Amino acid sequence: MAPGKTLNRVWCLTFLACLALPARAEWVRRVTDGIMGTRITVELWADDKGKGDRAIDAVLDEMRHIDESMSTYKPTSEVSQVNAKAADGPMPITKELFDLLTTAKEYSVLTEGAFDITYASVGYLYDFRKRVRPNEAQITKALPAVDYRHVLLDPKKQTVQFSQKGVRIDLGGIAKGYSVDCGIDVLKSLGITRAYVSAGGDSRIIGDRFGKPWMVGIRDPSKGSDDVITRIPLVDAAISTSGDYERYFEEDGVRYHHIIDPHTGHSASKVRSATIIGPAAIRTDGLSKTAFVLGPDKAMEIYNRIDDIDAIIVKLDGTVIHSKGLEPAKGLEPAKGLEPAKGLEPAH
Ligand code: ADP
Ligand code: MG
Repeated sequence: MAPGKTLNRVWCLTFLACLALPARAEWVRRVTDGIMGTRITVELWADDKGKGDRAIDAVLDEMRHIDESMSTYKPTSEVSQVNAKAADGPMPITKELFDLLTTAKEYSVLTEGAFDITYASVGYLYDFRKRVRPNEAQITKALPAVDYRHVLLDPKKQTVQFSQKGVRIDLGGIAKGYSVDCGIDVLKSLGITRAYVSAGGDSRIIGDRFGKPWMVGIRDPSKGSDDVITRIPLVDAAISTSGDYERYFEEDGVRYHHIIDPHTGHSASKVRSATIIGPAAIRTDGLSKTAFVLGPDKAMEIYNRIDDIDAIIVKLDGTVIHSKGLEPAKGLEPAKGLEPAKGLEPAH
């Protein structure tokens, strides 16, 4: 056989052998902006890149669906329809929204009214991007409509009704955590066992990074977005951080930001940031606003009362306090050599 032909055959066989190789398992990561007005990050271990990309597509589809039905920025969303009509009488809603409203009310009870989706009855008067805020007269007028007890839910008929006019709801304080949990459920149903999903300040992790935990940073509120006060090792857990640096403007030395005290209608400013760790992101999201409204001591008392929750609070003076569950076991050295997962941003 001519030498050229032999060479061709060798190339051909090598090419075929490559095709026959099993697909390579790898970490697949994607960062997407624009869904729910925030940044979505998904990172996972997949049998091959194609399978990983399809799994990420499925997570993003699920989040788009939640955005479509829960956003108050979209007049056609189910929540916008509720805001427009629920004061007129009982209104049938989807099971998904009904369950979320039920959970939201549970968190209002648990946080002694600090978490309250009817904050929006006053909250809609703020526009942090345009530096717009209500005056005292507007707040006084709108405030009676802020009370989670105005949201009447009938589980038999699956309806919602507002007990008075002027009530508005906004799920911005819980929908991202919920969407992260839904994203994780999608991944689990596709057989993914190691993954990180985050939407804004809410993240959840399944599995570990082959014997090592995922490392999630907590941002230093007084510094830039890449500076962290600490990194938390996490496996099979959710983490949510709320911060006064997320959406705000300043006027005459006062910071007006997006977490509203349901009792006063003003920005709730009793801490700089609060990070909650727990089993599901809907839980950690529902609890991360509380410290801003109730202050560090009262909030920590509530966090310590809940078995599967831990918390880290940055106080106004910059000092950091944490819940009892994060006390290092006596005599144990802190773990060394735990590298942060590549590219994981601090949880706000
Ligand atoms: P992120 O949106 O980055 O997850 P947070 O979890 O801190 O940030 O949620 C902040 C959002 O919570 C606000 O933009 C607003 O939609 C909503 N919110 C503000 N105040 C309250 C409150 N007292 N109770 C419930 N939700 C609130
Ligand atoms: Mg959140």
